[in-house]
Amino acid sequence: MLSLSRLLCGLRTESDPLRYGHARQGSHGAANDAAPKPVVVWALTRACNLRCVHCYAAASSKPASSELTHAEGRALLEDLRDFGVPAVLFSGGEPLVRHDALDLLDYARGLGLNATLSTNGLLIDDAMADKLADLELKYVGISLDGLKPIHDKLRGQPGAYEETLAAIRRCRERGIKVGLRYTVHALNLDQLDAVFDLCLDLGIQRLCVYHLAYAGRGRSLRRSDLSSECTRAMVERLMRRTIEAHEAGSRMEVLTVANHADAALLLLWFERHLPEFRGGGMATAARHRRQPFRLQYRIHWTARNGSLRSVQLALHGRPRSGKALQLGLDACARSAFGCFA
Ligand code: SF4
Repeated sequence: MLSLSRLLCGLRTESDPLRYGHARQGSHGAANDAAPKPVVVWALTRACNLRCVHCYAAASSKPASSELTHAEGRALLEDLRDFGVPAVLFSGGEPLVRHDALDLLDYARGLGLNATLSTNGLLIDDAMADKLADLELKYVGISLDGLKPIHDKLRGQPGAYEETLAAIRRCRERGIKVGLRYTVHALNLDQLDAVFDLCLDLGIQRLCVYHLAYAGRGRSLRRSDLSSECTRAMVERLMRRTIEAHEAGSRMEVLTVANHADAALLLLWFERHLPEFRGGGMATAARHRRQPFRLQYRIHWTARNGSLRSVQLALHGRPRSGKALQLGLDACARSAFGCFA
């Protein structure tokens, strides 16, 4: 995840240490034992009540045979607690279709884990929202692909849009922080501004813009992904919207997810626009101190069947040259993937 609101506007949030906590590192950014522990995304189930066109989990109506049992899930949470992970995101599929999802959330809370939820929101009626509030859930990420016609079409269910908005409202009414998750590709690129405006109107605290993942059903959507030029234009549009919103008084956190090249694009954007820009943020500070750039990564691993995947990069400072940046990215990617070889 790359926090545009932090790096462009200096907005600090309680989750920053998960992304930008500075670890002591070896060469090429490889983390040592002193490095912060990873945030864990646990895909509780493959089962889902929707059939989204871009679903990287290839979710279906049935759970996968490899899913952890309730007892195994509790043991996993205990392991994560012992390992010292800072947060566990309950994901899926749709985690709330699993009958013991709330019990597992409660168990995680009892272990002292910072448990959060990623959901499509359709199962969050008033009763469910009350239960989530009773569990003192601090954060729920809810997916939205655009305004009504596009969202319902991409989610494969008429009426999904209204139900998703109702879930957002119910969580907000109960004091649960809501992040809206928007996966962008050619079929909904024109919804970017509308989704951004909707977030501002609803007082959403966080907007996460996901790049399309070429996995699951997302693989067959590959031809509908944005071109490199469109991707750059989209991210730059998001940067401008973020700055404008913050200059107008918004405190909304804005992040991009699942494309490490966004960090390099942000850096190049700074190179072009910094003289006119009066914001805060790490890149600004790093530039003024003339520090060399440094890359960090956080591993996010998914444990539906114990498998590991996904790496997250954060860019600190500025490169001495484009060549150095390229070498740094390559080295970081090699060392990160080497962890799983
Ligand atoms: S993207 Fe999420 S809501 Fe959509 S089918 Fe996949 S798991 Fe379900």
